[in-house]
Amino acid sequence: MPFLTPDQREELCRRYKAGERMSALAREYGVNPSSICDLLASRGIPRHPRKRPRPPVVEPPCFCEVCGAGPLPRKFRFCKPCKVRREADYMNEWRKKMLAAGRCPACGGTMDRKKGVCQHCFDLINTRRLAKKAICFAGYGGRCACCGEANPVFLSIDHVNNDGAERRRKGIYPGTGTGWHLYYWLIKHKFPPGYQVLCFNCQWGKRLCGICPHQRKPQS
Ligand SMILES: [Zn+2]
Ligand SMILES: [Zn+2]
Ligand SMILES: [Zn+2]
Ligand SMILES: [Zn+2]
Repeated sequence: MPFLTPDQREELCRRYKAGERMSALAREYGVNPSSICDLLASRGIPRHPRKRPRPPVVEPPCFCEVCGAGPLPRKFRFCKPCKVRREADYMNEWRKKMLAAGRCPACGGTMDRKKGVCQHCFDLINTRRLAKKAICFAGYGGRCACCGEANPVFLSIDHVNNDGAERRRKGIYPGTGTGWHLYYWLIKHKFPPGYQVLCFNCQWGKRLCGICPHQRKPQS
């Protein structure tokens, strides 16, 4: 309490001990009640007992309004799965409405028919996908495992055991299982073994010859 003199502090403490109310003292001295609390605490002066104890707050338990799961934390209307489903449903409805109105289904902006979204969303999605691609390549060494090419434009993810088509058929990956579908999957699964970064040259070399010609060392 920088704005009270030592004398005022003494007096304040004395009057509080004599039974005056904190709120009245705070008003009179023009200070915050919390700073009086601090002052009293610093001098070890016990607080007055509350006249009327506060009634304990008893909230009725909450249950999910959709599936009845619970009890849930206070003020929750839905359990987590129902909440996620409701939000997804809402967004799907919204997207449908926007598409029907010829607007961008991501933001409601002006649609670019060729891209399926507006220019702004297209750029945003592209940036995110490129970032995921970079994370994915970095997770596998960031350069071609054969020749060391590091320019991301030339790089792609290679199935070490050439089982990419088979794994795609089995439906292991989301979507097409290529490009960013694959990058997202690899990041989600924390870069499992069986994949490597190869440049397109080395990938073709491997595909055509079984082993990239770079790896065929001249016999000596
Ligand atoms: Zn529920
Ligand atoms: Zn948009
Ligand atoms: Zn290479
Ligand atoms: Zn190579």
